[in-house]
Amino acid sequence: MTPQPKDMEAPRLFGTNGVRGVVNTSEMDSAFALRLGQAIGTYMRGPVMIGTDARASGQMIKSACAAGLMATGCDVLDCGVVPTPTIQFAVKNNKVAGGIMITASHNPPEFNGIKCIDPDGTEMARQNEEKIERIFHDKSFARADWSSLGVTRPYTTSIDEYLDAIIGLVDAQAIRKAGLRVAVDCSNGAASNVTPKMLERLGVKYVTLNADPNGAFPGHNSEPTPENTKDIVGLVKAGGFDFGFVHDGDADRTIFIDDTGRYLYGDRSLALCAYHACKKNKGGLVVTSVGSSMCVEDATKMTGGDILYTMVGSPIVAREMIKHNAVFGGEENGGLIFPELQHCRDGAMSGAKILEIVAHHGKLSDQMDKIPWYSQYKVKTKCPNDRKQEIMSKLAASAKGDRLDTTDGVKIFSKKSWVLVRPSGTEPIFRVFSEAPTMEDAKKLAEDYKTEVERLLKE
Ligand code: MG
Repeated sequence: MTPQPKDMEAPRLFGTNGVRGVVNTSEMDSAFALRLGQAIGTYMRGPVMIGTDARASGQMIKSACAAGLMATGCDVLDCGVVPTPTIQFAVKNNKVAGGIMITASHNPPEFNGIKCIDPDGTEMARQNEEKIERIFHDKSFARADWSSLGVTRPYTTSIDEYLDAIIGLVDAQAIRKAGLRVAVDCSNGAASNVTPKMLERLGVKYVTLNADPNGAFPGHNSEPTPENTKDIVGLVKAGGFDFGFVHDGDADRTIFIDDTGRYLYGDRSLALCAYHACKKNKGGLVVTSVGSSMCVEDATKMTGGDILYTMVGSPIVAREMIKHNAVFGGEENGGLIFPELQHCRDGAMSGAKILEIVAHHGKLSDQMDKIPWYSQYKVKTKCPNDRKQEIMSKLAASAKGDRLDTTDGVKIFSKKSWVLVRPSGTEPIFRVFSEAPTMEDAKKLAEDYKTEVERLLKE
């Protein structure tokens, strides 16, 4: 076996949203969680907040991870089953060394994952994850002496602290006065322990769906896609609710259904909150990733704000928001980031903000119709990994349009449309994503660029 040079890059563990794998395979079993806990503890060197989503394997992975942390001398503060943003808030609010969330977000029930939180409550920066990966692979773990081992204590007030903060940041009086009725689908996830409580405290009448934490996800899979949200759409239509909303499994994301029963893609709530953040701040910067709809840029500019596009990935959006002191940000998948609370995607805060907007301004459908609607179209095309860079350079060089953005892939804007050709990080494909005022135009644009990629590949 060839010895690995010391400075060789350690194999990567963390993906864009922590480490994920199928439980009780070598990628996510108790031995792995224990060893990763030791690596995290060696890096964090202080008290660590820990929580899980509602998955059946949460207890096992959490216990193993906590054992690893305690072995390095870190105390563990166990928040129980809570949303990811609750752990993030607890880390920042209690000024601890960091946090760990045991979650696989919207993945199927057999998955689980381990995600690290930096002391400021944001998802861990990549350079810090690399330090943990290095410790993990080198097995250079801190070993506390018998008398200085860490202990695990329950931390039972994280949800109340989190809700106090959210309620303190919205116009709770206006929400109470508006007498709103909403339907909420907690997707049998961590939101079950938080969102109904929040609605009660805000004096909102509500009906719940799937509001018991259950790792088998009996209601539907925990990704809030149009297919998984048919029940709540039906409920909103039949029940005459002011709106409906659905969380993903760890409640960092929220998708809304308006009073007419329209499923609103995450871009729509992102645009509406951007509009109000810029209106309130008399301008300001909104940060989102390159795949977001133009409606976000339109809404931002309607109220005097400016937009900054980043690479795809919520930790990247959050860090750019901090760097540029942005007034709002998020991603098109329903992950909205409200900097007045914290720099991370926040499902419950998203619900509270939309309640406030409806209480102040009226029906959600009317608010949505003030923002332009566009049609989007997505296709894929094959491309060997070793030719992706060359194809992107050629596309960028020959691009005809008003504006070119190469932040993440090649995005070409022309008047009221754009096309984004982006290489997949995991598969030998390009994703071609377009947006235009009509579906016909969006489809043509995406198909034209798919053909262009195929033509360039033959060169
Ligand atoms: Mg999630």
